[in-house]
Amino acid sequence: MEGIQILSHLASSLEAGRTLFLGIHVLGIACFAYIVTKRLVPLARAERDHRFDRPLDRLGKVLKFWFGQWKHPRYRTAGTLHILIFTGFILLAMRAFTVLIAGVSQNFVMPGLSGRAGQVYDIITDYAATVVFLCMLFAMARRLVFKPARYAVPARFGKAHTADAIFLLGLIAALMLADSFFAATKAAAQAQQGQPAEALAVFTLPWMLQIALASVALPTLGSCYFGAYLVHEITFYFLLCYRPFGIQFHVETSLFNVYFSKLDKGTLKPVRWEVSDEHLDQVKSFGVKTFEDFTWKHMLDFYSCADCGRCSDNCPANAVGRPLSPRFISIKGRDYAFQHYPMFGKPGNGTALIGNVYSEDEVWSCTTCGACEEECPLLVENIDKIVDLRRGLVDDGNVPQSLQKPLKALESRGNPYGKMEKKRADWANAKEFQQTCRVNIVAAKGATTSGADTLYFVDSITSYDDRMQSIGRATARILNHVGENFGILGAGERDSGHEVRRFGEETLFMALRDHNVEAIKASGVTRIVTADPHAFNALRHDYKDVPPVEHISQVIAREVEGGKIKFNPVENDGDVYAYHDPCYLGRHNQVYDDPRKVLDAIPGLKRVEMKRCRDRSFCCGGGGLMLFYEPKEEQRMGVKRVQMAAEAGANVIVTACPFCMVNMEDAIKVAGLEGKMTAVDLTELVDQQIARQRPVVDEVCVRQIQQECVTGR
Ligand code: SF4
Ligand code: SF4
Repeated sequence: MEGIQILSHLASSLEAGRTLFLGIHVLGIACFAYIVTKRLVPLARAERDHRFDRPLDRLGKVLKFWFGQWKHPRYRTAGTLHILIFTGFILLAMRAFTVLIAGVSQNFVMPGLSGRAGQVYDIITDYAATVVFLCMLFAMARRLVFKPARYAVPARFGKAHTADAIFLLGLIAALMLADSFFAATKAAAQAQQGQPAEALAVFTLPWMLQIALASVALPTLGSCYFGAYLVHEITFYFLLCYRPFGIQFHVETSLFNVYFSKLDKGTLKPVRWEVSDEHLDQVKSFGVKTFEDFTWKHMLDFYSCADCGRCSDNCPANAVGRPLSPRFISIKGRDYAFQHYPMFGKPGNGTALIGNVYSEDEVWSCTTCGACEEECPLLVENIDKIVDLRRGLVDDGNVPQSLQKPLKALESRGNPYGKMEKKRADWANAKEFQQTCRVNIVAAKGATTSGADTLYFVDSITSYDDRMQSIGRATARILNHVGENFGILGAGERDSGHEVRRFGEETLFMALRDHNVEAIKASGVTRIVTADPHAFNALRHDYKDVPPVEHISQVIAREVEGGKIKFNPVENDGDVYAYHDPCYLGRHNQVYDDPRKVLDAIPGLKRVEMKRCRDRSFCCGGGGLMLFYEPKEEQRMGVKRVQMAAEAGANVIVTACPFCMVNMEDAIKVAGLEGKMTAVDLTELVDQQIARQRPVVDEVCVRQIQQECVTGR
């Protein structure tokens, strides 16, 4: 507040309480320092994390996500409320500080806020205090009357958090009220004494209170002034010290949480930071088994979660009734920290998390789709924690029954189906296909290089699944059409290991990766293309020292733009298409536009967007080895997804991932939409619609494509 030229009545009332105020300051600051120090104890005992690199990128994140509140408008009402409150807090910070100092030094003026600047600041903050006060009332009404579903706490996760939220909102409202009352009493006293009264912004809380206090006697105003100061000071320090005991701790931690957040999407943390792969065999225990196995950043996540429920609101596992709600991954972690690292007494000894805090089903239910992380305004990370918990389970031999067989097959045969390595390229040997397209084996392990520039990395599902082989053939024909000098690794290829890694089997992943890296290097290719977003993500983020990789949709979009790919009009112009963003193409790698550009380039193709699209896409349920795991759920994710497509008015769902295709086609049957809806991969659609210029080949080609589309082979 500007200046403290306080009337003698008011000045003497504050003067009388100076020692008391000073005592509260010292006590408040000491308590806060003690509490925060205690809260930091588990972080000091936690595993290392690597978050001090690329400071400029990190500052950029702070500007965008913390200061700019970037994610908040995704939920319009709650987001607007939060932005108003956050802005109010930022504006009011100096005013609160000035008011606090007034109790011990009445003539204190914040540097830069004397004279006109101070008057302008006072007017702005009068409005800010009023807006924050009104936001508190509105937020309380939302919690008590409107009760958004995402705030509800399912019985298995404990009691509702409403009372705590209301209490905190009430405290902030009280602080705003005390601040306004303090300003109003001063202005009222000035007016009564015929002095130029401090200008209070019209229609604000202080302005209204000043009017109400206009006829109050001066001595009473002195008492009100004293009381308002005392309430303000006590509420301020109580809030400061109470916040680290609940969801409001994010006010203190969120800035740091955003600064230290993950910079690269699609990546996964190593088993142990600063332990190289070669030295992993010296690590006694993999993954997270006790709380202290989490990294300090993951603990900071727990403290920073604001319990807003946005993550769970978007989590497909939660939506279909699986026993997983990412919000409670954080809340339960935070509760554990509070209970086992108490304010007084010694911290408890690390108890096993699985069985006591998290359940096995909860941990296995995640598809690693990333919807929760995409939505979180505070950039809380869940996938790394879940994968670390899985690593711990795998390390202890707790692998779900249904996953044991595919894992063994991956170990012995390099694919989860247990099929022979030499059959890996069989999809390319079909006679009719060979009439339309030749696929070279670039270099089996140990062989000489083939001279191909581009490697088409096929991965297991497209290589071995009868239905998905059609995606392989379509991809090859597209690459052939645009004149790409490409080949495949054939028997030399192993599963990319993407799902294996996210399942928590790091050692097996490393074996698969090393084999592939060696084969890729031996092939001499300079770039890689894949039609499988999981392989795309693995090659891009989990592998090192391999040539640059592109998803086929990026290649097609470029060739459409460059004119090498032209399309025939769609035959049935009554069809309506909806594009389903695969999680590992969209959210994890931000390829949203290219597939849409390709679809929009097909003459006559009508496309609609599903409500949940792009970075809010709804996972089909295929990630994280989920094709081999039967989780407890009320409904299949894929079924929900095809219903969303139907609601959008589509009868053709297009995807760009073989895992999605498996789930979509299955879901269409389960949802009873057979005959009403079809699923097609982008490559299959492009292959079918390409306007080919060589009529002889074209005829055979079209026959082959049509046959594949009809038979689904
Ligand atoms: S993790 Fe993020 S999105 Fe989820 S409840 Fe916490 S703050 Fe909200
Ligand atoms: S990654 Fe997907 S499935 Fe896993 S917790 Fe987050 S939203 Fe849920």
